[in-house]
Amino acid sequence: MNKIIIAIDGFSSCGKSTMAKDLAKEIGYIYIDSGAMYRAVTLFALNINAFNPDNTINTHLLKANLDKLNVTFKLNPETNLPETYLNGINVEKEIRSMEVSKRVSPIATLDFIRDEMVAQQKAMGKNKGIVMDGRDICTTVFPEAELKIFVTASAEVRAKRRYDEMIAKTGNADYQEILKNIEERDYIDQTRKLSPLKQAADAIVLDNSNMTIAEQKKWLLDKYKRAVSSSN
Ligand code: C5P
Repeated sequence: MNKIIIAIDGFSSCGKSTMAKDLAKEIGYIYIDSGAMYRAVTLFALNINAFNPDNTINTHLLKANLDKLNVTFKLNPETNLPETYLNGINVEKEIRSMEVSKRVSPIATLDFIRDEMVAQQKAMGKNKGIVMDGRDICTTVFPEAELKIFVTASAEVRAKRRYDEMIAKTGNADYQEILKNIEERDYIDQTRKLSPLKQAADAIVLDNSNMTIAEQKKWLLDKYKRAVSSSN
């Protein structure tokens, strides 16, 4: 069967990663969470103290250290899912912290960071057979993708899902803080100059506010089957 590229964009915490991961597992494709790459860069920036006391970014310091930044993915043999490594260290948990979430969107506005991440992402799709999710995957990274999806849901629904997830994982979460972070990231992601989050003209829209994970999974698998048969 023909291998294709599946590009999934959408707002923060709208369940893109869950559906993208599930689909990749089911069809034997590579899954890449491009947001995890920007999160790993943010953790790197925190580690080298590239955030000024007023929360602005010391871009000079970050740029000067870029050659010491290496973000990779390795498959966890137990879960069969890729996990994020920063300079050889597994940072999968650390990059999901609120501290990283609060700082990642400003980092993702920097041109030298986006140039580097987009080049790496394009290289990962060279042989197709990949599902990648993010904000600019349909528009900038893989405008030629055979299947493009744009996922959306209300900010409140997304915040509640993230809240439930954090409570289940850590037993600790603040709904208002999560909602505020989601709204702030939506705003920065949609209004930044470089590759802002926007729906590609040929993307299929999925509003999953009232859908279960199983329903989304079925919906996406169906779209994949159609895309593969029309690309043959
Ligand atoms: O997908 P996730 O919410 O983990 O992404 C974290 C942040 O990384 C987003 O809020 C966005 O600012 C940035 N991002 C991006 N382009 C992508 C993926 C993520 O700018 N392709």
